[in-house]
Amino acid sequence: MQPNLPREGFFMSIILKFGGTSVANTTAINQVVGIIRRTLPKNPVVITSALAHVTNLLLSIAEFRQKVAVEKILRDLKKRHWEVLRSFKPHIQAKIEPLLTEEFLELERLAARLLQKSNVTKKDLDLLASFGERFSSWLLTGALLSQKIPAQRVDSRELVVTDSNFGAAEVDFEKTRRNFARKISPLLRRKIIPVITGFIGRNHKGNTTTLGRGGSDYSAAITAVCLHAKEIQIWKDIPGFMTADPRVVKTARIIPQLSFQEAAELSYFGAKLLHPKTIHPAVAQNIPVRILNTFAPDNPGTIIYGKSSLRQAQADKSLPVMAIAYKKGITIMNISSLRMLGPYGFLEELFRIFAAHRVPIDVVATSEVSVSMTIEDKTYNAGLIGALQKIGMVEVRHGHVILSLVGTGLKNDPRVEAHIFEVFRLAKIPTEMISKGASSINFTCIIEEKFCEKAVRALHSKFF
Ligand code: ASP
Ligand code: MG
Repeated sequence: MQPNLPREGFFMSIILKFGGTSVANTTAINQVVGIIRRTLPKNPVVITSALAHVTNLLLSIAEFRQKVAVEKILRDLKKRHWEVLRSFKPHIQAKIEPLLTEEFLELERLAARLLQKSNVTKKDLDLLASFGERFSSWLLTGALLSQKIPAQRVDSRELVVTDSNFGAAEVDFEKTRRNFARKISPLLRRKIIPVITGFIGRNHKGNTTTLGRGGSDYSAAITAVCLHAKEIQIWKDIPGFMTADPRVVKTARIIPQLSFQEAAELSYFGAKLLHPKTIHPAVAQNIPVRILNTFAPDNPGTIIYGKSSLRQAQADKSLPVMAIAYKKGITIMNISSLRMLGPYGFLEELFRIFAAHRVPIDVVATSEVSVSMTIEDKTYNAGLIGALQKIGMVEVRHGHVILSLVGTGLKNDPRVEAHIFEVFRLAKIPTEMISKGASSINFTCIIEEKFCEKAVRALHSKFF
C-alpha cells in the first residue's frame, strides 16, 4: 500500500505534537497557535503535553502528602493555568473556565483523598499525572478559539485503550483505531481541529492510565498510525538533532535528515531529544517524523525517515558520519573468570547477575578470560559487585564516557576508523574500550571523562 495516498474514509492529516515548554505560558501558547494556523490547509490534529514541569509538580503531591505542601502546589498550578486562561477573549474565557474548574476540583478531591491514604498505588499516580494534559488541552483549545480557529478538545481517554500496566501502559491498537475513526474523523471532516491530551489513556475498566513519562510523543505516533497521517511534527524548544552537542562544539550543525536507526542510536548514546521507541509505530508505517523548534518555526529541523533509502540526497556525502554523541557518567567493569564455571557458563552467569540486579549494560567487549562492560554510574551498587565477585575478579573504574559516531554505511568505510584513530593519536587520547560491528551504523569507544570535550571537538572538526 502506498503510504501517502489517502485511504478510504481518512483525511490526509498532519499530527502536531507540542511539548511542555511549547505550551509553558501565554507567550508560548500564542506561538503555538501561529504554528497551527499555518498548517490549517493540511488538516492538523494537535496533541499536547502538560505545561512545562506540571507533571512533576502533580506527582510531587503524592510524594509530599503533607497538607501545607500540597496546598501550595495546588495554588501554584492554579495560578499558572489561570494566567493563560485570563489572556483569552472574555467570551472564550467564560466558556473554558467552568470546564477547567471542573477538572481542577477533581484534582483537589484526589489530592485530599491521597492525603488520607497510607499507600499510594501506581493507579493513583497515573490518575494524578493525567491532570497536566487535561488542563493544557483546555487552554490550547481556548487559545485557538480566541483566534477564531475552530477547535475541539478531546480527552484521549475516549480514544486510547490500554492494558492495566499503570505507568507504562500498552496500547490496544485495534480498539484505539476504531475510536479514532468514530471520534476524530468526523471533526476533521467538519474542519474542526481536534486538540487531544497526550500521555494518557484508559484501560478496559475505565481507569486512567499513562503511557510512561514523555509519553505524549507516543500519543502522537498512535494518532498518526490510527489516522494514516501524512507526517508527524514534534515541536520542542530545540532546533533538532545536531552533528554534536552545541554546548561543546560551537560549529555543530542541525542534521536535516536521519534514518530511524540513526536517530535511535543517537538517542541511546546521549542525544536526549526523544525516546525512539515512542515514534517507532509511526516510522514502521513509513510516516515521517519531523523535529521542529516552536521558537524558530521557519527552521527546517530534522526529519526522521523509516527507510534510510529515502535519504539519497545524502548518499554521496563524503564520509558516512551523521553525528557524534556522548554519554558521561559511565563506569567500566572488568570481570575475569575464576574458571570455576567452565568455558560455557561464565557469560550466562554474568548476564544473569546484571539482570537480577536490574542493571542495564551499555557496551561489552570480551576476550577468552575476561569481559569488560560499561554501566551508568547511577546504576552502580554494592550488591551487584558482591554477586560478581563470586564468579570472578572484578575491577571497577568510574569517570568514563561513551563516545559514539553514528551514520549509515559507516561500518564498511575503513576511512572512518582511520580518521578516528588519527584524531586520537594527534590529541593523545587513549581509548579504553572499542565496539564496532554490533550495529552497522555506529562506532563506539570508551574514553576517560576528562578527554571528552577535547575528543568531541577534534572528531567534529575532522568529520564535518
Ligand atoms: N507530561 C508528560 C511528562 O512530562 C508527558 C509528556 O510530556 O510527554 O512525562
Ligand atoms: Mg512534559
